[in-house]
Amino acid sequence: MTGALRVDLPKDEVPRFWYNIVADLPDLPPPLHPATKEPLGPEAFYPLFVKECVDQEFSKEKEIRIPDELRELYLRIGRPTPLYRAKRLEEYLRTPAKIYFKREDLSPTGSHKLNTALAQAYYASKEGLERLTTETGAGQWGSALSYATAMNGLEALVFMVRVSYMQKPYRKYVMKLYGANVVPSPSELTEVGRKFLKEDPEHPGSLGIAISEAIEAALKDEKTKYALGSVLNHVLLHQTVIGIEAKKQMEAIDEKPDVLIGSVGGGSNFAGLVFPFIRDILEGRDNYDVVAVEPTASPSLTNGEYRYDFGDTAETTPLIKMYTLGHKFVPPPIHAGGLRYHGAAPTVSLLKNKGVIRSVAYPQEDVFKAASLFAKVEGLIPAPETAHAVKAAIDEALKAKEDGKEKVILFNYSGHGLLDLEGYKQVLKLD
Ligand SMILES: *Cc1c(COP(=O)(O)O)cnc(C)c1O
Repeated sequence: MTGALRVDLPKDEVPRFWYNIVADLPDLPPPLHPATKEPLGPEAFYPLFVKECVDQEFSKEKEIRIPDELRELYLRIGRPTPLYRAKRLEEYLRTPAKIYFKREDLSPTGSHKLNTALAQAYYASKEGLERLTTETGAGQWGSALSYATAMNGLEALVFMVRVSYMQKPYRKYVMKLYGANVVPSPSELTEVGRKFLKEDPEHPGSLGIAISEAIEAALKDEKTKYALGSVLNHVLLHQTVIGIEAKKQMEAIDEKPDVLIGSVGGGSNFAGLVFPFIRDILEGRDNYDVVAVEPTASPSLTNGEYRYDFGDTAETTPLIKMYTLGHKFVPPPIHAGGLRYHGAAPTVSLLKNKGVIRSVAYPQEDVFKAASLFAKVEGLIPAPETAHAVKAAIDEALKAKEDGKEKVILFNYSGHGLLDLEGYKQVLKLD
């Protein structure tokens, strides 16, 4: 089996638990109240989020059971997802390294985001809720949540940044096909939205404003809660199915990765792949070189400061300790919209601060070139976010070649780029 091009797990190997890294990070700084600077407990989060998710957010249990009904939903979206080897890329690069990648692009909405969207919607329906609200930029998270609410008999109210609503309509149609209510933000539905529309009826919107609207809409109605697609502990927790499967798949072919790679926006797909391996590091069993990849346009882990900051622009969230570029930082409009966050998840930030992981940042042009090479030799078109991980994997493989080392590289293929062709066209000047 060594050298297998594709490794599958049988369907009864959909993971039965998530790995909660918080249990292994006793020094993780808690969220603070912005005015009193006192640590916040679960009570502060119950009004806004699904209750089970809040409990998971604060849980110190190392393994959290995945309900069987949710495992069935995971099966439906293609879990366990296959692990691939990029053999043709290795040959093209003439590298002694082996490059493996985990296929999170094969889900119905084309990315890893369903792993948490389904969990959040599942618990929401169990708790008798009727609706989830959220914000979305380009629409990856909005489409994942719309699919998840549809599968769990809930409504979705998605506030989509107005410029994206106008200029990137395809994921909007995906959301609408799943039955979601998608409104351009700022909207007339909330006080925040009305305030911005009064100032400028053509307001282009921003992720910060859309978050504020989604939160307001959730707080106004008892049967409605708010769902977030990255950064929080419980979101990263749900993503660990990726790494739990990948570990088994590597073991099945008798391989052990030397280098682990993932792109980082808020940190969820990165954490999903690497946390189950980092468990080995924290428990003193093993070591890996773990690389978080960012755009140079928004390099929070690479150039940010490790300190308490707001999670959003409007200063409505608790203070969280993380690597941050400052909550007022507005990254330039790059095509990897999912990587434009000013901070990074608290757990990922702490691991960076401890030296357990490292980070690199790449400019957009290099990233798209790597993506087009990947498309040519492997036949897969990565999402612009995913292309950051592809670029880092290529760089690691070339380094191995220089050093004459037989390294094993594993990266997370977080999503496909078939709805991001406008970005490809612009950066690579395709016509
Ligand atoms: C949203 C997204 C990302 C970035 O978000 P993380 O929470 O950092 O994973 C990366 N890749 C894809 C395909 C995405 O949709």
